Amino acid sequence: MSAQPLRPPPPVVRAPVVDSHCHLDPEEWGGDDGVDAVVDRAFAAGLSGLVVVGAGVSVMDHAVLLAARHGPRVRAVVGIHPHEARYASPAALAQVEALARRPEVVAVGEVGLDFHYDFSPPDDQRAALTAQVALARRLQKPLVIHDRESGGETFAILAGEGAFGGAGVLFHCFSGTPREADRLLEHGGYLSIPGIVTYAKADRMREVAARVPTDRYLVETDAPYLAPEPWRGHRNEPAWVLYTVAAVARIRAEPAEVVARTTTLNAVRFFDSPGLAGQEPWTAPESGA
Ligand SMILES: [Zn+2]
Repeated sequence: MSAQPLRPPPPVVRAPVVDSHCHLDPEEWGGDDGVDAVVDRAFAAGLSGLVVVGAGVSVMDHAVLLAARHGPRVRAVVGIHPHEARYASPAALAQVEALARRPEVVAVGEVGLDFHYDFSPPDDQRAALTAQVALARRLQKPLVIHDRESGGETFAILAGEGAFGGAGVLFHCFSGTPREADRLLEHGGYLSIPGIVTYAKADRMREVAARVPTDRYLVETDAPYLAPEPWRGHRNEPAWVLYTVAAVARIRAEPAEVVARTTTLNAVRFFDSPGLAGQEPWTAPESGA
């Protein structure tokens, strides 16, 4: 392995922080031991909780087992990603439903439409989304949404299927316009801000981050993807959500601790999971951890 270039370590934020969306699939991280190491690094860096997304038939059960292994600070979300919608057979949806009934599972997701990659045919994506909205409503669990280049169709399906009358809707990795954000917020939805907000060209996302009401946004890594600056291009990990907290704090002209506390409260409320805030009283990590 080559030496890492010198870059600033994650900032120390003296308040609980939740990475509200990460993928910790064992095959990406060198097995369960590798996954547990990355979880330990996140807590050592000062995070209070993680929401792990198992979005696909081959990874869902790993996310649930991880949550069970680490307790209430780690919770799971399960569902069939739009990329995998072609595999959303009745049997696969029954598997989502069985897992989603478990107490470690706090939402159905990530589900939605992705017409950028079209890894699954659009009609399969629509059908999988519709079925999983119904499933979430039946189980009274919130929905974590993936929306990429759907031309507003994801939102239209959610509205048409009554998703906004359910347990909650969170657009993860929100990349829409301020107007689209307003429409989501008017419907009672939440949005989550990823490390993209640190990228030079992400002015539109920074505008959304500046305007979103305090009680309606979360922060996330989407690890292993979308590493924030100064690590863009590297494999992302949950501890690095701290760079995003610091960036959002600068954009909103608030202390990082305020961004941390408010987004943690929002995560606790949205996922109905007080354990994500960590133990009370929360203790700061050793400086420089
Ligand atoms: Zn994701």
